[in-house]
Amino acid sequence: MASYRGRLAPTPTGRLHLGHARTFALAAQRCRAAHGQLIYRTEDLDQARCQQAFTLAAQDDLHWLGIEWQEGPDIGGPHAPYQQSARLEFYLSIWKQLHATGHLYPCDKSRQDVARSLQAPHAEDDREPIFPAALRPALDAHLGATDPGKTNWRFRVPDGEVITFQDQLQGPQAFTAGKDFGDFLVWRKDGFPAYELAVVADDHAMGITEVVRGADLLLSTARQKLIYRALGWDAPAWAHASLILDAQGQRLAKRHDGLSLQTLRARGKTPQEVLTAPIASLW
Ligand code: GLU
Repeated sequence: MASYRGRLAPTPTGRLHLGHARTFALAAQRCRAAHGQLIYRTEDLDQARCQQAFTLAAQDDLHWLGIEWQEGPDIGGPHAPYQQSARLEFYLSIWKQLHATGHLYPCDKSRQDVARSLQAPHAEDDREPIFPAALRPALDAHLGATDPGKTNWRFRVPDGEVITFQDQLQGPQAFTAGKDFGDFLVWRKDGFPAYELAVVADDHAMGITEVVRGADLLLSTARQKLIYRALGWDAPAWAHASLILDAQGQRLAKRHDGLSLQTLRARGKTPQEVLTAPIASLW
């Protein structure tokens, strides 16, 4: 069996909060228990919102918590392997593979186009609306494109297929393509890959054997499984940590400063308390 490789993959758009702390601690703990290697990867593809200061703050918060990694930009290796914004050529090669095998199409439809389409059911939670199949181009359209250009590209999902996986923490999962999620973005018109493409490309290239992350990404895992299959790659195992809710039952977001690590540290909480105390006691 391949030796365990895990990763911490924060997006530097804000300070880490309690939810990140507990998920990353779990990632580190599972890696340690398996005598594996942990990688730190900065997911900074959203150029408008990501800041180097948040990357540095995240690393400082994680060190304070006692979470250590064995590979990452701060450890002396070359920067490019661990910073997504430095890996565009690599993502482009993956776009080409997916495009060459007919999985992608360019899409200039706006959110309003999607909303106007009668066949776009409105998801009940905060999920993206399902991209209506009626707005897809013909199967053979655009096969001649040699680069993504300045347009969005979507992955064509196999309508009606049930995508299943066994989550290491949440148990068996099943999502239906075309119903729970639709054709999703893999490339953005600003010239950067979308999250789903970049994360699969990197987890594969970095030899990740288990992905530990928040349960808000369970549905994304179904999309990502389709990308692994399209590329002919083995998928890693997944362990999705349950989300931490605040006193009102809302998910913690980075803007929710009440439980940011910055605030908790300023209030004198210890790493031990941050990682293990009942949530209510941390307010
Ligand atoms: N970078 C993502 C985030 O901070 C996590 C992606 C992942 O773990 O797959 O939300």
